[in-house]
Amino acid sequence: MGVKEKILIVGAGLSGAVIGRELAQEGYKVEIIDSRSHIAGNCHTERDEATGVMVHIYGPHIFHTDDTEVWDYVNGFTTFMPYKNRVKTTSGGQVYSLPVNLHTINQFFGKTFRPDEARTFLEDQADKTITDPQTFEEQALRFVGNDLYEAFFKGYTQKQWGCSPTALPASILKRLPVRFNYDDNYFFHKYQGMPENGYTDMIERILDHPNITVTLDTVFNRDAAEDYAHVFYSGPLDGYFDYELGRLGYRTLDFERFTYDGDYQGCAVMNYGDVSVPYTRITEHKHFSPWEEHAGSVCYREFSRACEPQDIPYYPIRLVEEKAQLTEYVARAEQESGVTFVGRLGTYRYLDMDVTIREALDTARLYLARKAENAAMATFLHAPL
Ligand SMILES: Cc1cc2nc3c(=O)[nH]c(=O)nc-3n(C[C@H](O)[C@H](O)[C@H](O)COP(=O)(O)OP(=O)(O)OC[C@H]3O[C@@H](n4cnc5c(N)ncnc54)[C@H](O)[C@@H]3O)c2cc1C
Repeated sequence: MGVKEKILIVGAGLSGAVIGRELAQEGYKVEIIDSRSHIAGNCHTERDEATGVMVHIYGPHIFHTDDTEVWDYVNGFTTFMPYKNRVKTTSGGQVYSLPVNLHTINQFFGKTFRPDEARTFLEDQADKTITDPQTFEEQALRFVGNDLYEAFFKGYTQKQWGCSPTALPASILKRLPVRFNYDDNYFFHKYQGMPENGYTDMIERILDHPNITVTLDTVFNRDAAEDYAHVFYSGPLDGYFDYELGRLGYRTLDFERFTYDGDYQGCAVMNYGDVSVPYTRITEHKHFSPWEEHAGSVCYREFSRACEPQDIPYYPIRLVEEKAQLTEYVARAEQESGVTFVGRLGTYRYLDMDVTIREALDTARLYLARKAENAAMATFLHAPL
């Protein structure tokens, strides 16, 4: 198929790369720009020169999904190595297994409960006076009672969100956050793994198509859009409108990087539940590639705080205030033509990588279908609200 129209994609992360690849394969000429000096967005990985460890520069990323098409898609570009995410937590001077499971409960209460006994025990711990939980704290107390709440939920949540769990909605904790068996695999998904040579290598392969050009260190300018048949924008929604209605609230992360000669903590992720410890967790990156061997180690201490204008936005807050502002930005976006807002920043949602890829594939397909019908492309694939 010959080269058709020119498409501009803002952002060379997973969203931009997958949409770009799908359209390039259909004969579109795809130009991708990114303000950073590397591709892969927040999934970017880089080998540390001194130790050889594959470092997840913007924090660790574990691929997990139930979506067979997405799993086959990523496996078409790289080899995925087996990896199971198992998280530990340090709380009150002891190390426990997460998510809270039968091992955690037995260790914490000094018991040898079988599953049914633990379930009955926890029902007794639960605060039954709370019938209509409104806050995260009430929901947690209703599910697990005060002791487990204080040890495993309160401090961590407070550090992660920068506010008291009494100020967060109950909806954050939808289900009973406890397992009555010894399963400590963090994710329930059918497929889980790590790309053998990191995410940046995988995304480089997705972008490797003669119809795709990538230009780094380039910030999107709305005037440039006129030269293209369509723009797919994976930058921040509020940024597209120069923050005219104020900034949507995000949490950002600070990573305090340190190296260690040997094995620092014996696992990939160690959470810290106590409020007296200022960081939420320490991640040790060589354990995310368990098939590799390295004498040295690279670790990140992770601190969470409110995102300022100069920071990298990580987690959308989406509380009441942000939702009102988001409604206005969405209304503005819908008045635009020739642009589709995509990805975690373009739609102001937390999206795992598999969901990002699913949405990117569906976005490209919708564009092709609308083109075939000579119909206008949607501003959003899914309404962000
Ligand atoms: C701390 C953290 C941990 C995570 N861990 C996991 C995990 O374990 N498993 C999982 O499945 N998912 C995880 N995710 C989610 C994962 O990061 C996202 O799914 C993925 O990054 C979304 O890709 P994207 O392309 O939409 O966005 P991004 O990766 O953010 O890419 C957007 C790109 O657009 C560029 N850009 C922005 N504005 C402009 C502009 N104006 N001009 C030019 N370029 C611009 C940016 O530089 C960036 O490269 C995690 C996310 C965070 C924050």
